[in-house]
Amino acid sequence: MSAAPAADCLFCRIVRKELSAKVLFETERVLAFDDIKPQAPVHVLVIPKDHIASLNEAPEGADALLGEILFLAREAARSKGIAETGYRIVLNTARDSGQEVFHVHFHVLGGRRMTWPPG
Ligand code: AMP
Ligand code: ZN
Repeated sequence: MSAAPAADCLFCRIVRKELSAKVLFETERVLAFDDIKPQAPVHVLVIPKDHIASLNEAPEGADALLGEILFLAREAARSKGIAETGYRIVLNTARDSGQEVFHVHFHVLGGRRMTWPPG
């Protein structure tokens, strides 16, 4: 597990518009964009604009921000038209989860039937 410095962080670079992404929406503190390698017909990533490496590194006082991201993940599902058919929100954290990008991101997946348990 490593926490990339914000200067090198992939998602910080998307926030700074140094890398392009298909942005669904942004607010003052949050950005939502399509995953580059979608695992479902709808696959959106919702991230804080400020760098937080993973949920494990989320500071005290980030509870409102994390709640805001969760509600905006719901908003992403609504705007993609999958709120009623259903969706899955995934927050991979650290090695065993398979987290690859160490900037907190909520995956919003839907548009197909999900299986359980997850792989
Ligand atoms: P995780 O395994 O939870 O860290 O997920 C990282 C996600 O970021 C994967 O689903 C990747 O497909 C996605 N991803 C990586 N690079 C980009 C990029 N440049 N734009 C959009 N999504 C990306
Ligand atoms: Zn970052």
